[in-house]
Amino acid sequence: MTRITVLAGGVGGAKFLRGLRTEAARRWPDGAGGTSAELTAVVNTGDDAWLAGLRITPDLDSILYALAGVNDEQRGWGRAGESERVSAELRAYGVGWPWFTLGDLDLGTHIARTSWLREGAPLGEVVTRLSSRWPLGVRLLPMTEQEVETQVEVEDGGRTRLMHFQEWWTRYRASLPALRFVQPGVDRAEAAPGVIEAIASADVVVFAPSNPVVSIGTILAIPSLARAVRDTRAPVVGVSPIVGGAPVRGMADACLAAIGVETGAAAVALHYGSRASGGLLDGWLMDTVDESEAESIRGAGIAAAARPLLMTDLPASAAIAGAALDLADSLR
Ligand code: GDP
Ligand code: CA
Repeated sequence: MTRITVLAGGVGGAKFLRGLRTEAARRWPDGAGGTSAELTAVVNTGDDAWLAGLRITPDLDSILYALAGVNDEQRGWGRAGESERVSAELRAYGVGWPWFTLGDLDLGTHIARTSWLREGAPLGEVVTRLSSRWPLGVRLLPMTEQEVETQVEVEDGGRTRLMHFQEWWTRYRASLPALRFVQPGVDRAEAAPGVIEAIASADVVVFAPSNPVVSIGTILAIPSLARAVRDTRAPVVGVSPIVGGAPVRGMADACLAAIGVETGAAAVALHYGSRASGGLLDGWLMDTVDESEAESIRGAGIAAAARPLLMTDLPASAAIAGAALDLADSLR
């Protein structure tokens, strides 16, 4: 059996996982339309928050809804056919964040999650229960069950202050210059049950084309998890979230600027570093438009391959996933 473990953030991670699920069904069919390969996603929980008394887990939900086929394709996040009646009531009471809308269907998920958490179920178990509603074809694991939330230190009117990542991202659209990102407690956080094993026993480990700082970077901030990536016998390949010097969508450039990394395909690969010299990657899949940067990646000891990387539709995402698997195969 082939085991593929993917580190993933929300929307970029979700698109890639949908493609991978399709590609895996083609390469390793199970005879029933699915795949015999074991697909596992280790998902960022740094964006999680308590809001209106509820625990919200945006990246896990983006992936859950997309794999279940109940996501809003147009808007790019949340549930399809969503309404916002409850959010309007909460706003009238001044509860929650006025700039962060919780859709009614989405609130159903948050209430179910919070209710199980309050009964004492750990987050991993909660994710299993939420996932069991749909045939996802991918096992979802939170990176950790501890609450380690990303905070952003910003400069605001000549002073520095910390705010939750969601506030910086959603309220300010990443417009306040970020000085740094911190996840208080992450250095003591344990990977969630199943995570280390999924990386250690994988045939391939893939970094999805997700935000390298606040999605993949946050996952890799868990010490035991980064160690598992360094130590796995599987090839570790990344798919570039940067195409032609820009994040395809979103504001990852603002995050990269804060950690002093240029917004470029090679710069991100070099930031992860080569496993041969204590880093995290064996291979890097980049877009054809960035092919001129391949030499500097290879020079750093990371294998590089180039192909179009825009996940415009499911076949495109599946072809990208296939190219990542091919690159991994070439490294065995
Ligand atoms: P979030 O948690 O919802 O912000 O999503 P992720 O962290 O999983 O992914 C966001 C990143 O996906 C962005 O920073 C983009 O750089 C990247 N991205 C989005 N669409 C595409 C695409 O079509 N191709 C590639 N290569 N990257 C993409
Ligand atoms: Ca996210």
